Amino acid sequence: MSPPSSPPFPIVLASGNAHKAREIAEGLAIRGLPVQLETALGYARMADCVEDGATFRANAYRKAHFLRPFAPATAWVLADDSGLEVDVLGGAPGVRSARFAGEDASDADNRALLLARLREHPDPAARIARFRCHFALLPPATDGPGGYDCEGTVEGHLLAAERGEGGFGYDPLFVPAGESRTFAEMEPARKDRLSHRGRALDALTAWLRQRP
Ligand code: IMP
Repeated sequence: MSPPSSPPFPIVLASGNAHKAREIAEGLAIRGLPVQLETALGYARMADCVEDGATFRANAYRKAHFLRPFAPATAWVLADDSGLEVDVLGGAPGVRSARFAGEDASDADNRALLLARLREHPDPAARIARFRCHFALLPPATDGPGGYDCEGTVEGHLLAAERGEGGFGYDPLFVPAGESRTFAEMEPARKDRLSHRGRALDALTAWLRQRP
């Protein structure tokens, strides 16, 4: 376990998504991990990374390996690949969550398409969905090969209309199981407690703490 006085260890986040970066930075702070988190912005254009994997895990590793040669050799590289799965849509939008309505689609475009697709399925069971977040963590290049990956999920259902101003992506449509508010209506710390990303962060921080 890292003693509380140990210096923050550097991690570069392989993402161009500012919302994800904020959630991960706040989530690491909530868990008290001494981390100095930077985004890939100053090192590489993450938009050039081809995310053609069939799974969140494959795409998380694609992003991490894309950034690794550009990031400082002494830094860890962390990638998050995440998205929403709707059973009645055969798991869509899934790994295509960011690009559901097209390559340059906005979050609002993606939500509008999702609502349109759900209107074809009036059965309330069609509203069952989950978020999935997969992390891939590569060690400093100076440490040689290795790494760790983990996943967090949250089950819930989708509303027929948006609610809330917070969060990002599909948050205004998603109500986690056992809750009445959407992620977009929750305080960030509450979303962290319940969310796929928060659960993946629990696993990641537990692994980092028990490293020799
Ligand atoms: P990625 O950057 O390729 O991993 O795509 C992630 C996409 O999944 C985002 O653009 C959102 O559409 C969706 N997504 C992932 N996590 C969340 C979340 O916490 N809330 C809402 N949408 C999310």
